[in-house]
Amino acid sequence: MQSNHINNMGGGQDKLKNAESAQIKNKPLLKTFFKDKKRWILSLVKNSKQHQKLKTKLQEVESLYQDSKEKIRQLEIQNKDFKNRFHALESKIHKLTPQAYLNAIEIHLAEHCNLNCFSCNHFSQLAPKGFPDILQFKQDMERLSNLTYGLIGEFKFTGGEPLLNPNCKDFFKITRKFFPHSKLTLITNGILLESQPKDFWESCKENKIEIRPTKYPIKVNWEAIEQKCQDFGISLRFFNNASVEKTSYKTILRPQGNLNILDSFTKCHQVGNCTHFKNGKIYPCNIAPNIQYFNAAFNQNLPITPIDFINIYKAKDYHEILQFLAKPIPFCRFCNLAKWRSIGEWKTSKKEIGEYLE
Ligand code: SF4
Ligand code: SF4
Repeated sequence: MQSNHINNMGGGQDKLKNAESAQIKNKPLLKTFFKDKKRWILSLVKNSKQHQKLKTKLQEVESLYQDSKEKIRQLEIQNKDFKNRFHALESKIHKLTPQAYLNAIEIHLAEHCNLNCFSCNHFSQLAPKGFPDILQFKQDMERLSNLTYGLIGEFKFTGGEPLLNPNCKDFFKITRKFFPHSKLTLITNGILLESQPKDFWESCKENKIEIRPTKYPIKVNWEAIEQKCQDFGISLRFFNNASVEKTSYKTILRPQGNLNILDSFTKCHQVGNCTHFKNGKIYPCNIAPNIQYFNAAFNQNLPITPIDFINIYKAKDYHEILQFLAKPIPFCRFCNLAKWRSIGEWKTSKKEIGEYLE
């Protein structure tokens, strides 16, 4: 037992020795470890400073980015504004520049209408029954063709409702005879299309008439009409697509006639788009030639003078007509263009003067 104890004691000393020698051996390792840790801690401190710097930089970049975004937004607004002003200016210049030839002319085949729209800008809901005289029309078309060398882009047969005229096909035939290359378009509310006789459809086909209806919120069998056009090979193109119903538009006049003529004319969307031909006279719009219906219905006197239109029998050439159409007419002083606007859902007229006043 004792010897074992002594032996055991000897073993303890060995262990101690081994531990000491291990400690001596591990000393450089520990040193390296602490050195590394120190480096690591120092690097952390250094990194944290770097991070701080980077964070500050990033914040600066972020704020620069936000500033630039705001500047870009402002530039976009300015750009949009410049573009709008440029287009408005371009449109004014266009209206005041005589064109090479007439783009389109509107002709009433009926003064009155079978719809009764609020503030109709042809005043057709106020107009009595009336059709152009066919003989006069033939003579006018011949003169117009000679004056313009047949160079008129398009004839739009309109009204009122043109299909109230039982002789549409005769007007189509005459126009096609004198203007073989022009586009001929029938503008209609469609109510009477389905009931048109066969010779109407044949005349549309023969004279290459395109039918352009507006879909009002009324009952019209458009499917049957589409089928008819297909059967006769006639082009049918809606002003508004199948899902859109017509809205009402308020055309506002100022009976005192004290508006800026040039301003009205250059802002007027009818100029260049709604050139009107009636009884041998050409007007730049459809307000002036039809104002008689407004005057009669509301006991007003917005006058039309001989310098509000150009008479095709007095004009010496096409150039004179084109020059005339590129300048305001005295009647422009009655058109309160700034107030013309869409008023939402389509509604019927109560035939009140208020429909045309501010
Ligand atoms: S807007 Fe057209 S459909 Fe309506 S009343 Fe005037 S001409 Fe007739
Ligand atoms: S009178 Fe002048 S402003 Fe009025 S619709 Fe005609 S062109 Fe336009």
